[in-house]
Formats: sequence, structure tokens, C-alpha cells
Amino acid sequence: MNTSEFRRRGKEMVDYVANYMEGIEGRQVYPDVEPGYLRPLIPDSAPQEPDTFEDIINDIEKIIMPGAASPACTELETVMMDWLGKMLELPKAFLTEKAGEGGGVIQGSASEATLVALLAARTKVIHRLQAASPELTQAAIMEKLVAYSSDQAHSSVERAGLIGGVKLKAIPSDGNFAMRASALQEALKRDRAAGLIPFFVVATLGTTTCCSFDNLLEVGPICNKEDMWLHVDAAYAGSAFICPEFRHLLNGVEFADSFNFNPHKWLLVNFDCSAMWVKKRSDLTGAFRLDPTYLKHSHQDSGLITDYRHWQIPLGRRFRSLKMWFVFRMYGVKGLQAYIRKGSNKVNEALLQRINSAKKIHLVPCHLREKFVLRFAICSRTVESAHVQWAWEHIKELAADVLRAERE
Ligand SMILES: *Cc1c(COP(=O)(O)O)cnc(C)c1O
Repeated sequence: MNTSEFRRRGKEMVDYVANYMEGIEGRQVYPDVEPGYLRPLIPDSAPQEPDTFEDIINDIEKIIMPGAASPACTELETVMMDWLGKMLELPKAFLTEKAGEGGGVIQGSASEATLVALLAARTKVIHRLQAASPELTQAAIMEKLVAYSSDQAHSSVERAGLIGGVKLKAIPSDGNFAMRASALQEALKRDRAAGLIPFFVVATLGTTTCCSFDNLLEVGPICNKEDMWLHVDAAYAGSAFICPEFRHLLNGVEFADSFNFNPHKWLLVNFDCSAMWVKKRSDLTGAFRLDPTYLKHSHQDSGLITDYRHWQIPLGRRFRSLKMWFVFRMYGVKGLQAYIRKGSNKVNEALLQRINSAKKIHLVPCHLREKFVLRFAICSRTVESAHVQWAWEHIKELAADVLRAERE
């Protein structure tokens, strides 16, 4: 959408809201719809090709408004998290569809998702240990709990440990800045021998420091075997998994208890939108549930509805799935994939052509599978670092020319 269309659509939306306010007395206060009304009204996955803005706005009046704030807010979120989960090819266990045990929720940030996962894991291990030894107090268990992440994990992981009141230990990463089985196992052995209780591991896919990937296929099975909750933080790199050629980087997520990434970082959804999935929603609701009278409702525990207040720290929530619905439909899956991929082979070929016809440096390309790659090889004894710097400036200038020509 260019700025002139945005200006027009924005004005139409102001009219829509103003008309709503003027006609509000004619609308019903409480919706008639039954739990689960929304899912059958929309497709079960995101469109491949973009929809038009008109289609989406018409659906707002037809599908969202009859469900008022809730259930529409809750039900659209559940379906959008399934759409997004399918785009990533998440294992079915994480989806809500088909009434499985898993599901997705929108949190405000990756930091909150990690904290929520840690608190749920903490409650789960306390319940498990107390079931076996009722005399153990919560305080006695908490003192011994220990969580792990790689030494490259984001600072929000350490903060989750601080807020959650448990020890968090950094596992030394390997030469590729990845957490591996051997280092984790060493820490587990040492800490168990010291009487500590390992209960939670955060694996990072796409670290902040250098986009390294912890080895999920190694770490995952250890977590499952040792009864430790595995949380996967893919805050910014996660968006790339919607492209089939990057999906292998998510292999091993099947071992995770929870998985999170931020569509607000790299999937064109405005801040804030952090997508979190769990394999067993009862692990979250078991940890955070309280039901005062003023929050009880007639479908309580019917299994028909999702009460997202039990999945998060705040009670109230915004209608954040609307912006996912708009973005997924305005771009289509193909449009979102193209956004992640950015440059095409064609652009690279045009750049090479410009570089070689300028005759200041000479590059020989190659094909790496289907990708056209520009190779920068230094083969002369007389080349110094200043020449490489100069060549880089030259390439950047020509690349800017190519991009300018593309836009015109
Ligand atoms: C950005 C980032 C975070 C923090 O994200 P917030 O949503 O701001 O809390 C955590 N982990 C990784 C790997 C990140 O890239």
C-alpha cells in the first residue's frame, strides 16, 4: 500500500469509526453468537495471494462486529495463531485446530513469553515434586531450581530468571556460538551432583549477537528425557521460517514445550505482537489460573472457549489479532515470503553486470543451488586491506544504483 492509498484508507477508517459511534444505539450490547462461531466463517489457512482491502473491511462488518469485542477478539486470535503456525509448519501439537492440547497466544514481547514459560515450568516442577514428596515446601524447591540458556542468549532470558526467582546458568556455546548437548550435559551432571534441580532450558534460534542457532536436535531430546521444559526463543529469526528454504532451521521444535517469535520484528506486523505457542495449554492455565466471581462466565470450563487471561500476566487484552489478519491477507503468504527473501537473483545479476562493466574490480559468480551468488575472491599478493575497503565502497555504490534503477 503506497502513501496515497494509505491516506485514503485511513480516512475511510475514520468514517467507519464515526459512523459506528453515530449508530451505536442501534447495535446489540451483548453478542448472540455461540462459542466457536468464528472459525467456520474464515478459511483455515492464510491466503497465498493477497486479498483486497475491500474484502477485508467487508469481513470486519460481517464476521467481527457480530461477535463484538469478545468472543471475536479471542476467537480470531486462536485462528490467526493457527494460520501463522501453519505458515511455519509447526508440529500439529502446537495448534488449537482439531481440539488438540496445544495452542497459540499473542504476548506483548518475547521477554514476556520467556517469563511466562519459565513461570509455568516452575509451577509444573513444583507440583510434580510435591506430588511425590508432600512434605517439600515451595520455598525449599525454589531454592534448588536451576534454568539454563546459552551464553549467547538475549538478556531478557536472564531477566526472566531474576523475576522468576530462580538461578539461571549460562552454558558455554561452541565455536559456532551454538549451545550443544555436551556442554549442557556437563552442567546438568555438575548441578545435580550439587543437589540442584534443573527444570528449564531456553534455546535460541537466531541469537542477538550473531544470529547463531542452538542445536535443537541435540538439546531437545535431553530436555525431554530429563523432564525439563524447553522454551525456544526465535524472536527475530523466526519470521524466516515461513520460507521453505529456511524451515530446516526450526527442526527440533517438536521437542519444545513452548516456542516464540516476534512478528513485529520481521513479518510486517506493527509493534506489539509476539507469537507464542505451547504444546499443552493446561501447563499455562494450571500456573496462572484464578477465578474471582466477577470474572466467571456461563461457559466456564465447558472446554468450548479459550480464556486467554490464564495464558498471560495481564488480565485485559487488546485485539492484536486484527493486525495479523490484515497483514496476512494484504500480503498473502507469497508476499510475506518475498519480503523475507528481499533481493532476487535478477537484482544480483544486474549488480554483477554493473560491477564487471565498470572494470574497476572483477567478480566471477556461481550458483549455489538456485541462488545466484557474487563471489569476492582475493588472489593477489599485492592486495591490502585498503583495497578491499575501497572495493566494498565501490560495490555499495553500484548496488545503490541498481536498487534506484529497480524503483524507477
Ligand atoms: C529482540 C529479541 C528479544 C527481546 O524481544 P522483546 O520482544 O523486546 O522482549 C529476545 N530474544 C531475541 C533473540 C531477540 O532478538
